[in-house]
Amino acid sequence: MRRTLVAANWKMNGSKDLVQSLIGELREPLSSLDNGVGVVIIPPALYVSDVSERLAGTSLALGVQNIARWDSGAYTGEIAAAMVADAGARYTLIGHSERRQLFGETDDDVAEKVQQALNSKLTVILCVGETLEERQGGLAGQVVRNQISRGLAGVSGQGWQSVVIAYEPVWAIGTGKTATSDDAQAMHREIRSLLAELGAPADDVSLLYGGSVKPDNAAALFAQPDIDGGLIGGASLNAQDFIRICQSA
Ligand code: PEP
Repeated sequence: MRRTLVAANWKMNGSKDLVQSLIGELREPLSSLDNGVGVVIIPPALYVSDVSERLAGTSLALGVQNIARWDSGAYTGEIAAAMVADAGARYTLIGHSERRQLFGETDDDVAEKVQQALNSKLTVILCVGETLEERQGGLAGQVVRNQISRGLAGVSGQGWQSVVIAYEPVWAIGTGKTATSDDAQAMHREIRSLLAELGAPADDVSLLYGGSVKPDNAAALFAQPDIDGGLIGGASLNAQDFIRICQSA
């Protein structure tokens, strides 16, 4: 179901102290937002239970940054989708560019993880985006189309209700560079057309923008007709910045 979402990707940052202080600062202001935005906190998996306890009684949702391609078994270091659901999280990022670039995750891996997530009733936030070279070579649209059509190859019917896509140009992540709101809107429009071609209920799928979103650029991005919110990295670790971004959605 299409709705406005702002998700906080803490990446590999945090501690028990940070959970206490940051969620403590976010709880009240984000619970009383009156703009209908859904907020998802995505800490390192080890802190999911601590964040879950701190979020109790609020409307804020919880997610993880990655899941395994497998159900269970001899996969040392991996965390299954079913475990994530069991721990109280409802969302999972899949295919973040850092996973693709640093851990060699392929579109086939992504497709398997998407199936695992849907089997465990998690909502997928599928991350897609082109590198600077791909954009400069005029390949951005094709790269993003391939990532979506391959990563979501197994999704059909009701499954689309549990899919969110985050367009995150790789050159904008953690760099301070942001796509212009017009460029971001153009890619989101293209993603929505692709979803329709794939037989998805394109107007019902939430499309987020990510890549150096800050309080001073969030409103212009979120005002675009096909941008339904954001995936926020660095700025989500600062309570005041994250609150202002959520207020702009
Ligand atoms: C991200 O990690 O998904 C992200 C968009 O990071 P940042 O906001 O720091 O660019």
